[in-house]
Amino acid sequence: MRVPEQYERAGKIARDMREWILENVSVPQTCLEIANAVEAEIARRGGQPAFPTGIGINAVTAHYSPQEGDQTRIGGDDLVKIDYGVHFDGYIADTAVTTTESPRYQVLMETTKRALEAAINVAKKDPRTGEIGKAIEATARAEGFKTISNLSGHTLEQYTVHAGKSIPNVYAPNQPTLKRDDVFAIEPFLTLGDAAGYVVDAPRESGVTIFSLIMRKRTGVKELDDLVDHIWNVRKSLPFTPRWFTKQFGLERLPKLLAELERRRMVRGYPTLVEASNAPVAQFEHTMKLEGNSLVILT
Ligand code: MN
Ligand code: MN
Repeated sequence: MRVPEQYERAGKIARDMREWILENVSVPQTCLEIANAVEAEIARRGGQPAFPTGIGINAVTAHYSPQEGDQTRIGGDDLVKIDYGVHFDGYIADTAVTTTESPRYQVLMETTKRALEAAINVAKKDPRTGEIGKAIEATARAEGFKTISNLSGHTLEQYTVHAGKSIPNVYAPNQPTLKRDDVFAIEPFLTLGDAAGYVVDAPRESGVTIFSLIMRKRTGVKELDDLVDHIWNVRKSLPFTPRWFTKQFGLERLPKLLAELERRRMVRGYPTLVEASNAPVAQFEHTMKLEGNSLVILT
């Protein structure tokens, strides 16, 4: 089966956006400005964000998308990860780049990029995900770096960012094998050699910024039902961030409604993930598809 053309359209925008990001993101923009600009540019090019744009500074590794009022600025010494996605009809292209104005992270960044290339080269011939992880880990180790062991790449399905299979960033035996027509993202995360090498949840107080609807049912509470209807209409099961809905539901009221939907197990929150020893992390990511015997890079 050929790639649905929606995957190709999403992939083209994600690919073109990489250059746009590297040209347009600069010190001292705020994380909020960057996320809003990335998502506006995706829309300008005719796509929709597949998930809230993640801005990870230094040890902030994944699942952080800035909210209204966030005044955090990127600085000249920061290692900045921008993880973004585009979808058409739920067909997702997921990709990430790391950028910095500091010379001190150049080797870490270049090695992470090479780890992704090494992983892709393995995936072209060997669909065993454990072997892909091994290539990522070996590339990191050869330069004295470590991979983040508890984050991984993943298969993608329509309206599902993390489908069934994981693609580890370390060697792991007995991992699933990628099959023909699987669409998947490979995303090495590398950190310093003396770092812990895994991520932990940031404290809940620091805020959960990414959510998704996991169950759609009536609660009988009008404001909750209105929010569920709105999420379903604009996102289905794709992730969202409160920043997108504050106009309709109110900056003060929305977190309370989301907390109630989480309590009712209808919405899931994804805590911000931070490197456990607070070490800087670099990330590069591509989405690709095994089409017959060839690997097609979509992003
Ligand atoms: Mn991503
Ligand atoms: Mn991903």
